[in-house]
Amino acid sequence: MIKRMESVEQASCSGWRAGLSDPLVMKFGGTSVGSGAAFRRAAGTVAGEAAKQRPVAAVVSAMSGVTDTLLAYAEATARLDGTGQTATGSTLEGSLAELHRSLYERHLDAAREAVGPALLPGVERELLSVLESLLGSLTDEHPSEAARRAGVVVHGERLSAVVLAAAISTAGVPAEVAPDPIATDSAFSEAEVDVERTRARCAERVEPVLRRGSVAVVPGFVGRDRQELPTTLGRGGSDLSATVLGRGIGASEVWILTDVPGVLDADPRLVEGAGTLPEMSYREAHLFAGLGAKVLHHRTMEPAAAAGIEVSVKNSFAPGEWGTRISARECGRGVRCVAVRDGLSIGVLSAGERTAGKDVLCALGCDGGGLQVLREVGADGEVAAVVGIGAPTDADLVRGLASLAASGIEHLWAGSTALGLTFVVGSADARFALGALHGALVGRTESGVESEVPA
Ligand code: ADP
Ligand code: ASP
Ligand code: MG
Repeated sequence: MIKRMESVEQASCSGWRAGLSDPLVMKFGGTSVGSGAAFRRAAGTVAGEAAKQRPVAAVVSAMSGVTDTLLAYAEATARLDGTGQTATGSTLEGSLAELHRSLYERHLDAAREAVGPALLPGVERELLSVLESLLGSLTDEHPSEAARRAGVVVHGERLSAVVLAAAISTAGVPAEVAPDPIATDSAFSEAEVDVERTRARCAERVEPVLRRGSVAVVPGFVGRDRQELPTTLGRGGSDLSATVLGRGIGASEVWILTDVPGVLDADPRLVEGAGTLPEMSYREAHLFAGLGAKVLHHRTMEPAAAAGIEVSVKNSFAPGEWGTRISARECGRGVRCVAVRDGLSIGVLSAGERTAGKDVLCALGCDGGGLQVLREVGADGEVAAVVGIGAPTDADLVRGLASLAASGIEHLWAGSTALGLTFVVGSADARFALGALHGALVGRTESGVESEVPA
């Protein structure tokens, strides 16, 4: 189920804002720091904003592919057999040496392109120290396997933070790594943020750097539990790190810099011709991210909405362009974007199930047979839901049904749910239905069919 967001009133942080004057948080995803040229571009963008005499904190993801590599190593070294061999059959020593070599080379190659010669020896030393800590995390004792996995995987962000800080300094603005300001519980793979402890840690770890006139480079994705053990915010969690940090330092703006021009009105990997949304409301972005719009981690909007932070999603290759601005402002009638969720089944909530369980995506409605729900059942699911998010009208429902019929797609259920305008179809039709409904509904605000539909 998609979590509800707190309202601004519940989590007001106006008192906190007295500290720094108008700080900006800029987050760079994995492809935006995927090479030396990308680091150089990101550093130039950060330095450009910092040169406007504004405190800037840069949140950085691991270089693209590094998190997957680290997770694979954590997995392969989890259970060594009696011969000291990893799950893939290589010796532990050989396997760790290879990991060390490949990560060192990749980050050093990037640094050679983005960092000036005076700072390069320091970067080499820091990379070696992070890599030593990584090897320790793969071999040391941990309280649990989940703690070990988190302790390993956060090193990807630590490595990229070293390179980005030096690249920003090379671009002419002093920068320092400000590690781990986010406090969490001990749910290691997808930890819950502790807002108050995070504020205190931001005051200790990030604000002094900003007050010194340096850019604070914060490794994304990582948190610390009460025992100071590393935790993670879940895959794609650097987006959430950015808005959590924004709330922690009283920022009014967070930029998410990525490899697309903004939030597109459908997943561009599934729909040709998806367009960039210039504006979205927190509510819309929260629902869209919750339904899998990968450009935003599914909980990114929660701190932003609670603290009233404007989030801009921008292309890191063209940061001067508008992108998508996300705020409390609702954007008017009509369907603004469409998402698809597969692996579902239609079920009836039994009398014993008084509250909808975690596997319930949304309720469809109630008739004599009971409360019908869409359940998330994974590979066993035979149906999919295409959801139109925004402020759909009855005319959109009629128009959507007509477009499915015209495309020869049978709908199994259609109507409004808490998620938006929902069309349930067979899994085999999911992608086709998404394309048809995108074409028929998105960007249509006129109410042509509405007069034919009872209010
Ligand atoms: P980053 O590494 O910057 O965090 P991600 O790969 O996590 O980037 O997210 C960006 C990717 O999300 C895009 O390349 C795109 O393929 C995918 N994506 C899926 N749905 C959407 C959407 N609605 N709008 C934009 N991008 C989307
Ligand atoms: N590096 C982490 C991941 O790949 C976090 C992120 O990129 O946001 O999931
Ligand atoms: Mg991402």
